[in-house]
Amino acid sequence: MTCYVSHLECSVTGEKYEAGRIHTVSVSGKPLLVRYDLGRLGSEVSREDIENSTEPGFWRYSPLLPVSKSDNRVSLGEVVTPLVRLNSSAEFLGVGSGSIIVKDESRLPTGSFKARGLGLAVSMAKELGLEHLAIPTNGNAGSALAAYASRAGLSTTVLCPDNTPEINTQETMAQGGDTYLVNGLIGECGHIIADGIEEVGWFPVSTLKEPYRIEGKKTMGIELAEQMEWKLPELIFYPTGGGTGLIGMWKAFAELTELGWMDCPMPRMVAVQSDGCAPIVKAWEEGADHAEFWENAETEASGIRVPSALGDFLILRALRESGGFAIAVSDEDILRTAAEIGHRDGLLMCPEGAATAAAYKSAIDSGLISGDETAVLFNTATGLKYPMPEVTLRVNKDEEIEFGQFL
Ligand SMILES: *Cc1c(COP(=O)(O)O)cnc(C)c1O
Repeated sequence: MTCYVSHLECSVTGEKYEAGRIHTVSVSGKPLLVRYDLGRLGSEVSREDIENSTEPGFWRYSPLLPVSKSDNRVSLGEVVTPLVRLNSSAEFLGVGSGSIIVKDESRLPTGSFKARGLGLAVSMAKELGLEHLAIPTNGNAGSALAAYASRAGLSTTVLCPDNTPEINTQETMAQGGDTYLVNGLIGECGHIIADGIEEVGWFPVSTLKEPYRIEGKKTMGIELAEQMEWKLPELIFYPTGGGTGLIGMWKAFAELTELGWMDCPMPRMVAVQSDGCAPIVKAWEEGADHAEFWENAETEASGIRVPSALGDFLILRALRESGGFAIAVSDEDILRTAAEIGHRDGLLMCPEGAATAAAYKSAIDSGLISGDETAVLFNTATGLKYPMPEVTLRVNKDEEIEFGQFL
């Protein structure tokens, strides 16, 4: 296989870094972006080659990924995640003649789309000869890292805030990650990891401090484009924490455009947050280039409980360039919307995914978008990892059954 990476580049200064070496952030402390020789790629690989690929899931897009030897690909049976059109709940959400389509990322290994980013990060760690990876996480990233690292024979240390959902810390342990609860926030977990690099010799794979997770997350955009026959929807709603997925998709669309593989205008990108932790929305509303730290972050949607994002300026730039916006919804709306979609359409959304649906409804109500467009919402994890309604009704087999109750 051919690797088309030309170099890495500082996302602020454009300064170049050599491919094939271990990198974290640029000298100015900013995220590094992977750049490809798209001219050569375009002359050697066609859109049809991609469509005819038999590789599992996101590995279909290998020419646009940084792994240079197929032996280094770490795979747990990735799938192309389905597009599920909302039917009965679409009306509740305010759709007109358009449609709402959920890209259901819950079907990936470890039950969340973190499999894309960490699958790539671990494959590159293997390729670069790293042995011990460490991550600060609110949940899904830790379990995805643990699963892929164990698969590759690498060790993992996972530091979680002590209010991380128990199911995430447990699944991380179960998949071989050495898991610790920290009495602090995700940023403080990150500081501990940074301080231990020398003594422990671990490699940090924190959001955007490692260059390859974004390449994995970018495959959401390529996959969506391929599934929609290279015609993207008008709107993409994305539950935004560190923003890797949004930045990655925007990068993917730029690469596909440069390759001449897209047959449509760019979509408007919408960053969705919870009003209990909405630093990007606040920055967006103030017209700022960077977001301030969000004090006392609190939301049921733990995947987007990120008070400070290293790539804030990249998220805000993608929103601006795409003509999109940032929007916050309440936890109450998130949970109500998840219940509506579950009841009406039989689709179990995680709170982060439900937030995008609640944001769609709110954007319709406030006239920010039209119900006549096609919107894609990202359901980023399985709802099975989160609290679900309790069953309180009982039937006593030893008494006469009241069949009327079942009517
Ligand atoms: C991590 C996570 C997010 C946020 O993803 P980013 O790309 O880092 O913004 C959203 N939803 C879930 C379920 C997550 O685990």
